[in-house]
Order: sequence, then structure tokens, then C-alpha cells
Amino acid sequence: MLAFYNGEFIESTEKIVSLEDRGYLFGDGVYEVVRIYNGKPFMLEEHLERLKNSAEALHIPMPYSDEEFKQYIAEGLNRLNESNVDIYMQITRGSAPRNHVFDKDIQPVTAMIFRKSKKIADDIRENGGSVLLREDQRWANCYIKSLNLLPNILAKNEAAEKGCYEAIFYKDNVVTEGSASNIFVVKNNELYTTPLHKGILPGITRIAVLKVAKELNIIIHEEFFTPHFLKEADECFVTSTTSEVLPITIVEGEKISNGKVGELTKNIYEGFKELTKK
Ligand code: PLP
Repeated sequence: MLAFYNGEFIESTEKIVSLEDRGYLFGDGVYEVVRIYNGKPFMLEEHLERLKNSAEALHIPMPYSDEEFKQYIAEGLNRLNESNVDIYMQITRGSAPRNHVFDKDIQPVTAMIFRKSKKIADDIRENGGSVLLREDQRWANCYIKSLNLLPNILAKNEAAEKGCYEAIFYKDNVVTEGSASNIFVVKNNELYTTPLHKGILPGITRIAVLKVAKELNIIIHEEFFTPHFLKEADECFVTSTTSEVLPITIVEGEKISNGKVGELTKNIYEGFKELTKK
């Protein structure tokens, strides 16, 4: 299939997207599908406007002006020589290491796939189709480690912009997890972490930390706690495969306890490091 990739026309099956591309890794990108009827793009201005708004919301710089997009689309249509076409336009953030998503040298990746439009089955067009009715749970399935991480990306970006390491989510006045980590709190030498439910990812590091805490005879509470409880904690840390056990000492600009890394956090990190050597 014909495709456009960063200024060039290629075959869509060419393997050119970096495995480090954040669109591929995390769905960190935006897209539009534009339909071409009889050689003419339908509502292209509106699609470009929405694409720009979406990209802006994710702080992804627009790689081309509207005029440039229009020219590339015209060229693609010319090459394809089809009059009814669907164009899948995608802009991903490109390849950026953790916490470097706003670096100036991060180049977004722009791709457009030009595909001959498919007709909806005549039967459905004529007789109508059927639907299911389901509660909208698009953001209530956090236990799935899916590539679709929009709320996480938005929160992580905001944290990075504000010089914070992580963003911790809460819902209905209950702390759930970090944008890319699980959260633990220490109060009176006892350990608290959110219980497993659909609102958090069951972290692998979380399992390891619970094991370490058990070995250290620390009392563990897998129970819900409030943002207030977090702010009033003695210690706090987040866990993930890449962060390991990472102390958190400031929440919303305020120190947790004395603002120093706590002893229990240090012990758990030591225990965790031992586990990694086994
Ligand atoms: N929660 C979320 C939303 C995550 O994305 C991650 C890791 O990426 C975690 C928790 C921690 O999981 P793990 O310890 O398996 O890395």
C-alpha cells in the first residue's frame, strides 16, 4: 500500500518505524482518517484542525503546515491514481528516552497510509446493523497493560513539565497508582499500598516489594487510602521495573514528613536489590 513517511513516499509494509518510537510503545501520538471522495478530500480543513488540537494537547509539535499536508496528500493521491481513498494520518512523538519527551531534538514521526476506500457491506447499508449496549469503561481497565496510555501520558507530561518525577492518580478520593508505577506509603512503620483492582496495574515490582516487606516482618495493608493519608505519611515510595523502589519525598510541593528518604524505604530497597541478585 502507498504510504508517506516523514517527507517520502514508500510502501506501507517497509519496516521503518523505530521500536523506540513512543507511538508504537505507548500510543503516544495522534491520528486522523480522511476520506477522499472522487479525488477530493472531504472536510480536510476540519481534520487538520482536529489533528493540530490533538497534537497540541499532547505537546507534540506539528511537523508540517496545513499547506504542506495538502500538497503531500495531493501528491499521494496522484501516485495512487484512485478516486475513493481513505488516508490514515499519524503523528507520533518519535523516539524519546524517559523524561526527555520535550527535548528540542525529538523529531515527531509523520505517516500517512493511502488505502482504497472499502464499502460497508450492502446488507448492513440496506437493512441496518445491530449493536451491543455496554457501560463505557474505557478508563476503568487499568489492570490491562495496554499500549493505550493516554491519561498516563498526559499526567506524566505534566509531571515532567513541572519538574516532578511522577504523577499519582486518585479517583473518588482514593489514591490508585502512579502514571507508570505503583505507590506505597509508610505510616507508623506499617506499609500501605492500594489493593489489586481494575483501577491499577498489578505491578511486578509491587509483588517483589510485598515479598521483601513480608520477609522484613513489616505489617502490610493492601487497602485504599486517601490523598490526605498520602500527604500525612511518614514515608512514600513508588515502584516499577525501571524505577525499582523509588522514594518520594514531596507531594504537591509539600514535604512528606521531614522530607527525607525514610529508613523503611531504604530497607525495602536494599531487600529488593538482594532479590534482583538471586
Ligand atoms: N502502574 C502503571 C500504570 C505502569 O505503567 C507500571 C509500569 O509501567 C506500573 C504500575 C509498575 O509495574 P511494574 O512493576 O510491573 O513495572
